[in-house]
Amino acid sequence: MPTPSTSALPGAAAVLADATRQAMPVATGLFEAIAEATNDGVGMAREPYSANEQKASDLLEAKARELALHVDKDVFGNLYMTLPGRDRDAPGWITGSHIDSVPSGGNFDGLAGVVAGLTAIAALQAAGIVPATDITVMGVRAEEASAWYAGAHGGHIGSRSALGILPPAELDSAINTRSGRTLREHMAEAGFSPDRVELGKGTLDLARHRGWLELHIEQGPVLERLGLPVGVVTAIRGSARARSSRCLGAYTHSGAVPHEYRSDAVLATVELVHSLEQEAARLRAAGGDLTYTVGKLFTDAGLHSITKVPGQVDFCLEYRSQERAVLDHMIDRARTEAARIAGERRVAFDLGSFSPQDPATMDPGFRAALNRGAVELGIPVMDIPSGAGHDAQDFVHAGLPAAMIFVRNANGSHNAKEAMDYADFELGTRLLAWMMMQ
Ligand SMILES: [Zn+2]
Repeated sequence: MPTPSTSALPGAAAVLADATRQAMPVATGLFEAIAEATNDGVGMAREPYSANEQKASDLLEAKARELALHVDKDVFGNLYMTLPGRDRDAPGWITGSHIDSVPSGGNFDGLAGVVAGLTAIAALQAAGIVPATDITVMGVRAEEASAWYAGAHGGHIGSRSALGILPPAELDSAINTRSGRTLREHMAEAGFSPDRVELGKGTLDLARHRGWLELHIEQGPVLERLGLPVGVVTAIRGSARARSSRCLGAYTHSGAVPHEYRSDAVLATVELVHSLEQEAARLRAAGGDLTYTVGKLFTDAGLHSITKVPGQVDFCLEYRSQERAVLDHMIDRARTEAARIAGERRVAFDLGSFSPQDPATMDPGFRAALNRGAVELGIPVMDIPSGAGHDAQDFVHAGLPAAMIFVRNANGSHNAKEAMDYADFELGTRLLAWMMMQ
C-alpha cells in the first residue's frame, strides 16, 4: 500500500511526518549496527545476560547520549533513556520493548520497540517540540528467557524484575539449556543483582509514569494478508495450558478384540481433540476470541505397534483468548468432554492442571487516541489482538495502563527471516511520536 503523501496532511501532522522521516537514519543506523554486532551467522543471538545482549544495550545507550538523553540503568540490566519534558514532576510516558532475541532470531522482534522510542524522540527534537512531560525509553532485558531457559518460569525477566512482580523462585528454577546453570547465576555473572528480586519491590516507580507504550512487529500474518502497515492492539491474549495430559486405555490385539471390548486411547483422544475444536469454532462464530492448539500428541514408540490397540496417548492442550471467561469455559469443556468420552470408550483421561494466565487488555482511552492519531496522520490501521506475549502485559498486570502499536512483518517471527519494511516502521514510529505528544 502506498504511503499517503505527507503534503496532503494538515499542518501539525505534516510537520510530524517530515520530522519522523528526518529521524529515520537513527533507526536504520541502530538496526544495522546491532545486527552486525550480535548475529551468529544465521540470525540474531542476543541471549539474555550475554555479551551480545550487552553490546546491543551499549549501542542503544551511545545513541541516547548522542541525542542528549538522560541515561540510567537498574540492577537488573534494564536501560532507561529519558527526554526531559516541560514539567519534570508530572507522570510521563514510558515506552520501549526488549533488547534480547530468541536463538538465531530476527533483528526486529523487541528491538524495533526500543529503536522506535529513540527515533520518535529524535523526530520530536527535529520538529523543535519539547514534550509536556518526560518521555523514557526502556530497553528491557531477558524477555525471551523462555527460549533459552527450561524449567518453571514465565520469561519476561527484565520487565517483571523492574516491576517487582517476578517470583524469586523462578531465578533458580530457570535452567539455561546450554550451560545447565541457573538464571540467577547468569544474571549475577553479567554484573547484575538477582538478589534484589527477593525484595519484591522492583526498581520502577509507577507513580512517575502515566502509561506504557510499546511498538512491536506483528508476529503473525494478519496485517500482511490484509495489506495494512500498522495495527492498534486490543489486548494480549491470556492462555490456559495443560502441558502433560494423558489418556490411558488398554493395549490389546488389534484383530482379536471386538470394538465393544476395547479401550482405545488414540480414538478416545481424537474424539476429545475434535470435540474441543468444534466448540472453539462455535465460540469464534459467535464472536468470541479463541485459539486452540494441540501442540503434542503421541503414543509410546517403545510400546505401540501396527498390531496393537493403543493403550496410552500423551498430549498437551493450549487455549489463548482476550477473555478470561472464554478460557474458563474451555477448561470446563475439556473436563466434561473428557469425562463423557472416558465413560463411553472405557478409558481414563488425566488432563492435569491448566494454569490459566489472565489476558492483558490495552487501555481503551489510549487505544481510542491511537486510532484518532492514525486518522490525523493519514496512517491506515486496524484493531488487532496480540496472540504473542509482550512486556506490555507485565505493565498491565502491575497496574500501569498500556497500549501497543503493531508494525507489519513478513515471514513470521522468532526466525531469522523476519522482514519489516522501514516504510511501515516509519509510519508506526510517527504514530508513536504523535501519542507521546498527547
Ligand atoms: Zn518480542
